[in-house]
This record gives sequence, structure tokens and C-alpha cells, in this order.
Amino acid sequence: MTENAFSQERLYDLYASMGISTKVYRYGERVLSSLRERFESIDRVAEYNQMKVIGAMQDCRVSEACLLGTTGYGYNDLGRDTLERVYASLFHAQAGLVRPQITCGTHALALALMSNLRPGDELLSPVGKPYDTLEEVIGIRPSRGSLKEYGITYRQVDLLADGGFDYEGIRAAVSERTRLVTIQRSKGYQTRPTLSVERIGELISFLKGIRPDILCMVDNCYGEFTQITEPTDVGADLCVGSLIKNPGGGLAPIGGYIVGKQECVENAACRLTSPGLGREVGATLHALPSFYQGLFLAPTVTAAAMKGAIFAANLYEGLGFPVVPGGAEERFDIIQAVEFGTPQGLIAFCEGIQAAAPVDSFVTPEPWDMPGYDSQVIMAAGAFVSGASIELSADGPLKPPYAAYFQGGLTWPHAKFGILKSLQRCLERGVISDIPAGLL
Ligand SMILES: *Cc1c(COP(=O)(O)O)cnc(C)c1O
Repeated sequence: MTENAFSQERLYDLYASMGISTKVYRYGERVLSSLRERFESIDRVAEYNQMKVIGAMQDCRVSEACLLGTTGYGYNDLGRDTLERVYASLFHAQAGLVRPQITCGTHALALALMSNLRPGDELLSPVGKPYDTLEEVIGIRPSRGSLKEYGITYRQVDLLADGGFDYEGIRAAVSERTRLVTIQRSKGYQTRPTLSVERIGELISFLKGIRPDILCMVDNCYGEFTQITEPTDVGADLCVGSLIKNPGGGLAPIGGYIVGKQECVENAACRLTSPGLGREVGATLHALPSFYQGLFLAPTVTAAAMKGAIFAANLYEGLGFPVVPGGAEERFDIIQAVEFGTPQGLIAFCEGIQAAAPVDSFVTPEPWDMPGYDSQVIMAAGAFVSGASIELSADGPLKPPYAAYFQGGLTWPHAKFGILKSLQRCLERGVISDIPAGLL
């Protein structure tokens, strides 16, 4: 017996001892055998982005001293200021704001919007409804402190039925009051396609062709490092995301980033801290090592998450569930939607993901009323960083089509285990009656 065959058997025994049946394991291996080439191309993207990150860190002369944080006001925080230059360099942007004081992705987006819009301005989304939590930021759903309360209006142009941009509709929606356009790269909790950087570039060119002074902001959440370019490479004036998603590499315990035009980023800094203080204050405490090391790991962590998403898509598509994106489709974010059509399916899937976790594997996720969302949401996350969705996690709103949104996985083996476990749970709960013999 070769060493490799021996370890395969041992591996299978270990899976079995952790609750994965022969059938689920064999079906998983069958699906995997068809994905080798795609995994290779993901590894190439990761390699490219890894070099980009190292290059940016070297160009900005990251030193050991950068890993020390500051306290109090945080004046002259070398590590913070250097990290912001690293982000700017990586994104080919003029400036960056990368802070532990930015509490989450929604906060980063709200900050970018509220600091770059003024009363009387109009905000436009040319890609349909924005992410759920932004509805309250904008005031689509009435909310204390929304843009609407400050006299900033909002218009939206939906995508066409085929997922394309409604160029005529967009042209008609742009007025002299349109100050900022928000473009969400990832589909979020929707079943529309995620936008590639190339498509975002086309949209930005079109908008700038109508009015060159319109600011184009991209909600980059979940998209970082999935391609070799970022929205700032195709004309975005602002690009915004969360550090407990892709760019934090699973290590950042908090934080968000805004990169883009100097003026836009300065506006955000003055809103985050205070007019007059701007980016000069903001202690980093003990966060810097995880920000740097997380960014360093982010390309390969994102690759692991991408592999997990593709594996899940093919596994569930093979069993007849609608999946977005489709198993064979190219992808530009780490989110995979699987439509179960029933609450039982969504819940069983999330239970499986939870049961595969390194932390809190023994708890049972339940649907709850989450702030910022308009229906109950179920979330599975056995994460080292609470709520970090770059870690293996699944969630979904309890409303039709009962889609589970699956994302993350700091390592590919963990993502694989979680997906197998979810399938196992679906079988145990009768959501799936059996895996047809033809698939094994
Ligand atoms: C996660 C996400 C947000 C909000 O980020 P939070 O950190 O959850 O506040 C916004 N937009 C998109 C597309 C997201 O995926």
C-alpha cells in the first residue's frame, strides 16, 4: 500500500468518526474530481494577489515597529499610517482609511456615504436594491439618522431581467443633483449575479460619460482578492469593505476600510473622528498585528473560501437544488446561494455548517430578529471572531426562496468538511431523501 493510499483510508475513517457517511463522502469526492482545473485557476489568482500584497508591504517599508499600536489619541501611529498606505498602494488608490474604529462593513459604507454627500444631493444605485442594512442608512426604511433625515434623496434603477445594466434607465435617473453612485459588487442576500470588476468598470465609464464629476463608490464586501483587479483599477472613486470579511484574512478582530480619492477619504476621516482632527487621531491599541498578518493571509484565505463556494454549488446543484452562481459559472465573490425552497432545508443546512465548526460546534442555530434586517435570519457561525463571515458561515433570511447564503472557510479542508456536514444533516432531516446511486 502506498503512503498516499494509506492516508486516504485513514482520512476516510476520520471523516466517518466525525459523522460523515460513506455515501456523502463518496459523492463529495466524485464532485471534487471534476473541479481540479478550477481549483488550479483559483490558486493562480491567489498567487498573483499574494505577490501584490507582499509588494505593497515592501514598497511601503512595513517594519517591525509598524506592529506596535498606540493608545489615547493615537497621534503619530506609524503602524496605522503605514497600513493605510499599504491599502492605498494595493488598491492603486490615492489614500486609505483602515481603522479598528470602523465597526463593520455597514459602518464603513455609511461613513463613506454620509461624509461625501451633502443636503440636497441625490444618491443613485444603478444596480437595484442595496444590501439590507443599507436600507436604513439611506432611509429606504425609515430610520433615525438616515441620509434621508439629512435631506439626501435616493434613486434606484433595477438591473434588467437578464442581469444586465438598464443603461437607458440609468441615463434618465441621473440629474444635476446626483452626487454619488453606489455600486454593490456582491449580490448580498439577493439572487442576482455578482458583478465582475470588468462589468463595474463598464458601468463606471458609462456614468462618467454622462457626468464626469459623479462620484462612483463600490461596496466591495466579499469581493476582495477574488480577481486580480479591484474596483479602484477601473475608475471607482471610493471602494469600501469590512475587515471581518476577505481582507482581514480571518485574523482581524474588527474593522473596515475605505480606499480611493484623497479628497473622498479625507471626508470620511473627518466624519469618523471629527472635523479638524481627521485621520490624525485614532489609536490602534493591539489591532495592528492582526491587520497586517490578516491582509498577508487574505489572498489564500479568500481562495479557500472560493473553493468551498464552488464545491457547495456543484454538490447541491447535482442534487437538483437551484444554486446561484451555478456550479460551472465564473465567480467574483465568495458567496454561494443554495435555494432550499423550505425553511426546514435552510435550517438543516445551517445546522450542518455549525456542527463542523472549531468553536461552538455543539450549539444549534435558531432564526432570530436581527437588527437591520426585515425578516428573521438564521446564522451559523462557529467563528474565532464573532460574526466573521470570512470564516465558514451560513445564513439566510427566513423568507422565500429560503436560500442559504454560504461563505467563508479559513482553510479549504474546513470548508469541505462543513459542506459535507451540511449535506449529511439534510439527509438526516429528510430534506433530501437519498443520494441517487448514479451520482456515487
Ligand atoms: C456584509 C456586507 C455588508 C455589511 O457589512 P457588515 O459588516 O455586515 O455590516 C454590506 N454590503 C455587502 C455586499 C455585504 O456583503
